[in-house]
Amino acid sequence: MVGSNHLEQTDPAVYSAIQNERQRQEDSLGLIASENHVSEAVLEAQGSVLTNKYAEGYPDARYYGGCEHVDTVEQLAIDRAKELFGADYANVQPHSGTQANMGVYFAMLDPGDRILSLDLTHGGHLSHGHHVNFSGQLYEVEQYGVDPDSGYIDYDTLADHATEFDPDLIVSGSSAYPREFAYERIDEIAAAVGAYHLADIAHVTGLIAAGLHTNPVGNADFVTASTHKTIRAGRGGLILTTDEYAEQIDKAIFPGSQGGPLMHNVAGKAVGFKEALTDEFEEYAQQVVTNAKTLADTFSERGLSLVSGGTDKHYVLVDLRDSHPDVTGSDAEEALQSVGITVNKNTVPGETRSPFTTSGIRVGTPALTTRGFTQSEMETIGHAIVDIIEHPEDDDVATDVATTVDQLCEAYPIYE
Ligand SMILES: *Cc1c(COP(=O)(O)O)cnc(C)c1O
Repeated sequence: MVGSNHLEQTDPAVYSAIQNERQRQEDSLGLIASENHVSEAVLEAQGSVLTNKYAEGYPDARYYGGCEHVDTVEQLAIDRAKELFGADYANVQPHSGTQANMGVYFAMLDPGDRILSLDLTHGGHLSHGHHVNFSGQLYEVEQYGVDPDSGYIDYDTLADHATEFDPDLIVSGSSAYPREFAYERIDEIAAAVGAYHLADIAHVTGLIAAGLHTNPVGNADFVTASTHKTIRAGRGGLILTTDEYAEQIDKAIFPGSQGGPLMHNVAGKAVGFKEALTDEFEEYAQQVVTNAKTLADTFSERGLSLVSGGTDKHYVLVDLRDSHPDVTGSDAEEALQSVGITVNKNTVPGETRSPFTTSGIRVGTPALTTRGFTQSEMETIGHAIVDIIEHPEDDDVATDVATTVDQLCEAYPIYE
């Protein structure tokens, strides 16, 4: 269903690029922590005629006629999001996680207000106030980090920092911090300095939806999420909060920072949320974490250092500096790519190399778990990754690993 003969006839160049991408996904092991594979049902919803419809506004309050059916879709997405997370209010229109964060900032802050968030090189996200991003340009930002020895956030230091800086908003959440956030502690720290708490759960949306991780909804003032990482609802963003802030958030998204919602993506969210409300999804999320712990154990046995010594989540962050000081994150990423294993280079706490080079790799399990991989396959992959890191230029090792990759891909197709 991914290929259609209309596309093939109208635009063979795009058609073949899509077919090639599909084949690349099937033929390689995707361990990028922020990627996943949506169901055929979500793909159908996203590739539907809903892309034709303008629906500025919200259900039952639109600026265009003919919205009765997209109203049904958006209301389903909203109701399911509220049910999944136990939220009073959900806005399902943000085009991405970054736009969800923008919505919260625009709703609650004025330019020049202060944000306290996790440093990018310690696992934070561009949209948390990095200087190359709008968030770093519009607001005054200071950042907290992890303890360099333990790799964990030191909440007492964070509390002192908050008292000194007096922020208007504190952001919790990360792209590359392998441990759970103590959301309740950050609620207290934020309350003590009169700041809002925004919990950005982009990476762990699915783990929280499945009840595996602490749910900040109801305690943090705002929760933003992505819908395509550990939950399989297609690309997009989501904002959850209480009725108190509903109107401000709605206005900040539309008309504040977006025009018409992407109704085909909202439909993808509705379908993905329905799937996430099942017992099967809970089992999936549990397996995602078990698989990440298996990778962590395998890496540790083979002598690799992990940031924080392990993981609570769906990925591990390998710090190559101790075990392989001459292998950079980008060396490892390239060597692994050449045998069909896709990971991303990643900065590590105390990073000394540039973000293009880095000293670490982030290795995630959501996509492979969707394919059906369990512990024994993860052990095999873990050993294969270490073999490549230990012998990045050995052709025999590369050939062996590439064969293993081919066998695993064939045994676990993504789309039948
Ligand atoms: C992935 C991510 C986002 C959202 O990213 P988009 O690419 O804009 O959807 C937001 N915050 C964090 C912490 C993330 O890791």
